[in-house]
Amino acid sequence: MSTIDQARLIDLFNLMADAIEREKDHLCELDGAIGDADHGVTMSIGFSAVRKALSEVNAAHPTDVFNTAAKAFLNAVGASAGPLYATAFMRAGAKVKGQTVLDRTAVADMVTAMADGVRSRGKADLGDKTMLDAWDPAAKAALQALEADRSAAEILSQAADAAEKGATTTIDMMAKKGRSARLGPRSVGHIDPGAASTAILLRAMADGFTAE
Ligand SMILES: [Mg+2]
Repeated sequence: MSTIDQARLIDLFNLMADAIEREKDHLCELDGAIGDADHGVTMSIGFSAVRKALSEVNAAHPTDVFNTAAKAFLNAVGASAGPLYATAFMRAGAKVKGQTVLDRTAVADMVTAMADGVRSRGKADLGDKTMLDAWDPAAKAALQALEADRSAAEILSQAADAAEKGATTTIDMMAKKGRSARLGPRSVGHIDPGAASTAILLRAMADGFTAE
């Protein structure tokens, strides 16, 4: 499979929801070190709502899937990660509007649009120890892979690799945004949970795409 239609995109969202469910406790532990220990629960609530909404929607295009996911996620998770991921999904939907299947260019566009959404909604800078530190390298890797004529699957897997590396770099950063910023230097030495969940989501998409 080299493209993603709306049904396949729903499958990928369900795989992301499965991955979040598997990593729920782990994400809560990560958040517990520098925050309020709820990130796994928050993500689980958001993706459970996405799964339910997507099981009921009559989506004709990938854009409908992204918009449904965004709305469900935002309704379920009003604070913190909610608006960030909702904006990411909304931007991806807007970027591929009118396309019935997502080809390799659209797959790279999808990743960069999500990163742009997180950047503009979160107003964090690189190095602030946020999910942007995973999204930004993921977007750059997706573009690089696109320009290097890689397949859609390779674009996603290289984005996931970059997100994982980016998430790891947050360990040495001092938090400048959100609840963890209150810890100042004590936030150093822990991975940012939002960056960790970003890497989990991109890996789930990449693996789901490749497995087909
Ligand atoms: Mg939290």
